[in-house]
Order: sequence, then C-alpha cells, then structure tokens
Amino acid sequence: MSVGFIYDPIFLEHDTGAHPENPGRMTATLALLEGSGVLSRLERLAARDATPEELAFVHDPRYVAGVERVADEGGGWVDPDTLITPRSYDVARRVVGATLAALDAVMRGDVASAFCLVRPPGHHARPMQAMGFCLFNHVAVAAEYARRVHSLERVAIIDWDVHHGNGTQDAFYDDGGVLYVSTHEYPFYPGTGAAEETGEGAGRGCSVNIPMPHGSGDPEHARAFEEVVVPVVRRFRPELLLVSAGYDAHFADEIALQRVSVDGYGAMASMVRELAGELCGGRLIVALEGGYHMVALPWCVRRTIEVMRGGEPVPDPLGPVPTGDVAGFDAMLSRVKALHGL
Ligand SMILES: [Zn+2]
Repeated sequence: MSVGFIYDPIFLEHDTGAHPENPGRMTATLALLEGSGVLSRLERLAARDATPEELAFVHDPRYVAGVERVADEGGGWVDPDTLITPRSYDVARRVVGATLAALDAVMRGDVASAFCLVRPPGHHARPMQAMGFCLFNHVAVAAEYARRVHSLERVAIIDWDVHHGNGTQDAFYDDGGVLYVSTHEYPFYPGTGAAEETGEGAGRGCSVNIPMPHGSGDPEHARAFEEVVVPVVRRFRPELLLVSAGYDAHFADEIALQRVSVDGYGAMASMVRELAGELCGGRLIVALEGGYHMVALPWCVRRTIEVMRGGEPVPDPLGPVPTGDVAGFDAMLSRVKALHGL
C-alpha cells in the first residue's frame, strides 16, 4: 500500500529570518523529493487546521490563546531561540492539523503510513511553554488524538531528533497509555532526558531515555535501537507508532555533535517500519522535527521515505563517517537496560 505525504506552503510563512529553523528547510527538501521523482510516487494528503480544542489535548487553553494573541499583536521572541511571527499561530496549528490529517488517513487505511514535512518543529513545546523553536507539539497532540478520537489504548512515540523531546515527555510523564522513547545527545539542550527519567505513577517505565554521549554515530544509534528501542516498543504492544523525526544528529549538522549518516537514519527507519508492521498493522506516522543542514536534511527525509516505501535506497552524496570508540556509550546503554528491565 502507498505512503502518504503531507506538506502545505503555509509552512513557509513562519518567517524566522536568519535562523537555522527557516523556510529553506522545506524548499530544499521538496526540491530533492521532486527532482528525484520520489514525490510523484507518494499519495499526497491535504492538511487542515487543528482546532483550539485539539491543541488543548496537550496544551493549556490559556497558552494556546496566548500564542494566538502574541501573533495577532505582531509577534515577538519567546526566548533567544524561539520566535512567534504574525503568521506563526496559523502555521503552527496547520502543522498539528497536518499531522492529525495524516493520522486519520492511516487509521482509515487510505495509506499504509505517512510522512509529514512540517515546520516549525514541536517536541520541545510543553503544555504551557514554547521553547527550542517549537510552538505546538504536533506529535504529542497526535498521540492524544489517536486515543480520544480513534479510541486507541496504547501509542508509542519514537524520537530520534538529536535533542530530547522534553515537551512530549512532560505531556505524558505520568501516563501509561503513551510510550515515549528517545535517543538524544546528552548532556545537551534542553538539559532533560537523563536515563533515570523513566516516568511516574501510571507512567512509570513509559518514558525511556537513551542519553547518547557526544560523538555517537551509526553503530551507537543502531545498538540503541536494537537493544532498547525495539524491545521496549515490542513489550508495550502499541497500536500505532509515531516518530518525532529530527535529522540534526547527522554529522554535517552543526547544531550538534553527533555523527549519524543518511545510512544510519535509514537503519533506524527500517527498524521502526518493521516494528510498525509487526505490532501495529503497519500504522506509522513520521513527522519532521529538527534537521538544519540543507543537504543532509533532504537526503535523510528522502531515505526515510524510501525505507517506508520498501524501495531500494539511493546512495547519498555525503556518505558515512567513521566513529571509533565513543567513551561512555557501553556504560550508558547498560544503565538504560537495567533501569527498564531489559
Ligand atoms: Zn533537534
């Protein structure tokens, strides 16, 4: 069955100027997908606006209204990284709505899985706070929407962005219905995501943090997936898989220090696709988060989509990089496995 694809030109209207998270991320990625013929083989889906009620599945209604008000009043900086422009409220709620539309299409069986090419990203957006380029948390809202609207009981979120998705973790920290599993460079922005953060109350064990040492590359990420991500997701038995797909762990991306290649991202995508097939009837939504290198990002997205389609991957122009021994990796992985009974 086909792979769905969602993009909306409104995503260009969150005009951040000279900022790593800028509209060029969309145009560069679209150019590669179009020029390579990949786009024409995908099922284009239409985005919609998320309603304030849907945003309130995760965010406090006062926060949602606050973002709208700041945008209406001309915008402003929320923190040194995060800008609300006059168009940002409309753009960010279309990002969430696009993700929900992709989810509906997958749940209806119109497409097997879907990729959401969206910006701004969402996984740092907390219930009451914008931060780290993020305004509304599209993947977190989608997880909650899957439960409330599609009556699912267990949804898993896999987050391979180089940063920890503190907003997503916050939304579900005491919730046993959503498994949040993250690989992220650590210690690093935003400071959260220690292995010992495992959830609380009914959510105990449902936050799975894999704090990757600086310089981790393809072999380390593959082992983190094989030894932790795959077994914990399998044990949780989700009915739907969501991916917070950040590509800023690529070695060329200057926002961080990891050494993942396009092949490395392809390997992670492949394991996720197999998990979705084994556990969720193939139901998989992959939604863009970070990724700021204008060659690496498009190629990582292309590779992810090729894997989702089950096609033969095309070699990327950047290639792999050697990593060598990454100090502290083995000890970290052992600690995570012990904390989660693996
Ligand atoms: Zn990131």
